[in-house]
Amino acid sequence: MLQTIDWHARAKSVRLPNRPFIDGQYVDSVSNETFPCVYPGDGRLLTQVASCNEADVDKAVRSARKAFNAGVWSRMAPADRRRILLRFSELILANREELALLETLNVGKPIANAFNGDVVGAANCIAWYAEAIDKVYGEVAATAHEMTTLVVREPVGVVAAVVPWNYPMSMAAWKLGPALATGNSVVLKPAEQSPFTALKFGELAIEAGLPAGVLNVVPGLGHIAGKALGLHMDVDCVGFTGSTEVGKYFMQYSGQSNIKRIGLELGGKSPQVVLADCDDLDAAAAGVAAGIFANTGQVCNAGSRLIVDEKIRDTLFEKITAQAKSFLPGDPLDAATRMGSLVTQEQMDRVLGYIDAGRAEGATTLIGGSRVRTETGGFYIEPTIFDRVRNDMKIAREEIFGPVLSAITVKGFDEAMEVANDTVYGLAGAVWTGSVKNAHRAAKAIKAGVVWVNCFDRGSMAVPFGGFKQSGFGRDKSLHAMDKYTDLKAMWFAH
Ligand code: NDP
Repeated sequence: MLQTIDWHARAKSVRLPNRPFIDGQYVDSVSNETFPCVYPGDGRLLTQVASCNEADVDKAVRSARKAFNAGVWSRMAPADRRRILLRFSELILANREELALLETLNVGKPIANAFNGDVVGAANCIAWYAEAIDKVYGEVAATAHEMTTLVVREPVGVVAAVVPWNYPMSMAAWKLGPALATGNSVVLKPAEQSPFTALKFGELAIEAGLPAGVLNVVPGLGHIAGKALGLHMDVDCVGFTGSTEVGKYFMQYSGQSNIKRIGLELGGKSPQVVLADCDDLDAAAAGVAAGIFANTGQVCNAGSRLIVDEKIRDTLFEKITAQAKSFLPGDPLDAATRMGSLVTQEQMDRVLGYIDAGRAEGATTLIGGSRVRTETGGFYIEPTIFDRVRNDMKIAREEIFGPVLSAITVKGFDEAMEVANDTVYGLAGAVWTGSVKNAHRAAKAIKAGVVWVNCFDRGSMAVPFGGFKQSGFGRDKSLHAMDKYTDLKAMWFAH
């Protein structure tokens, strides 16, 4: 089906949602301000989108609070909430073509990835939490004989979900699934680069039967709409995914307002460690290449630091370089494309700035390093691998968020682990080894929320995702994600 659709033709006629979705419908913004949405595949203006301000955010929060207090969702029987969220998931799949197209137009990711990955992943996430709703039990605590003591979880109330542009639908679904399943009302703020699918979600949720006001979507700028949510006195919790820098702002907003709960899924500089005893360098090379070039490297857990033992480095570099060829950037609307554009000109310039910094600090490019497909007007950078990187260089310390791999050569297991952990981040890490002993030693030694052994970027809704250190706290996915959207209440009944 993917191959048979003329995506360019569809792109000309698709409706681009560009107004806030509040209280069950699209509305005009109070602000009357707009911001431009550009297709990064060719740099053309797609549409102007409403830029919500404090008054718009307040309207959305009031709508969410009203729905929450009315109990239309928060007190609905779990089995009924389950039915509605399952329908929501089905509608996401039923609108797969349109959602995939909107995502590609917003962020320039290959249409095949949006169609087969992002849409399906988001639908799967909503369905997973729908299924969980009526299967999670409270507790009866072991207290005195004349007491019955229940420990229950209650929804926190109004949740703000503030998400980034690299996986707009998945990141929104990771917040909406557990927050809605547990009975909260939500105000979703998509990244300014990627408002379309979030707005469409608002529409589909209503069609699925979600009561008006339970899901509101406010497109807008971070320092205006995002900040207004962070500082709002009637928002009880923020589920945030984005940069460490903005994550720190949300901690401050919380302290400056109502001490709202904050869940942070932040950036990373994840190590891909290939030990000298690795017995499948082909698999390691494929994992390393996909780990940094998939989604144009705009991935929070991208394996952006390759830490390789000197004994195998030359062979491994040859194999990774060969793998990188399959990631040459192409037209995002072509079903065969494996790597698309970067999200904006600004992001492309930022990544090119890091490439310059790498060269200036003495690292050498094995491949890549340039902007390509310039004639299209789009924002493309070829897969880039830096050799002779030291872990104190800028390209080894800072999150580049582009298709740039920094390779650091080490001697032996201990040095590999030391370099892997010498970072302020702790989102993820991987080790490639043929030794069972080293697999276990490395899995324990790497300080990160996720460690992959002889694989990379495997995920499942059943497994929590999130980081250590400045990669944040709180977890998305799995039943653990429900914790941050609920308050624990103890009820004592004297007999
Ligand atoms: P940002 O932190 O810049 O933005 C994330 C969200 O926060 C956006 O909606 C943004 O709005 C908003 N925002 C920006 N500034 C403020 C502010 N001052 N106050 C309140 N809200 C604000 O991240 P990016 O969108 O650039 O996404 C990339 C980052 O996300 C990377 O660091 C990446 O590692 C991280 N990420 C982490 C993941 C994880 O699970 N750990 C997963 C995916 C990405 P606006 O768009 O208008 O600026």
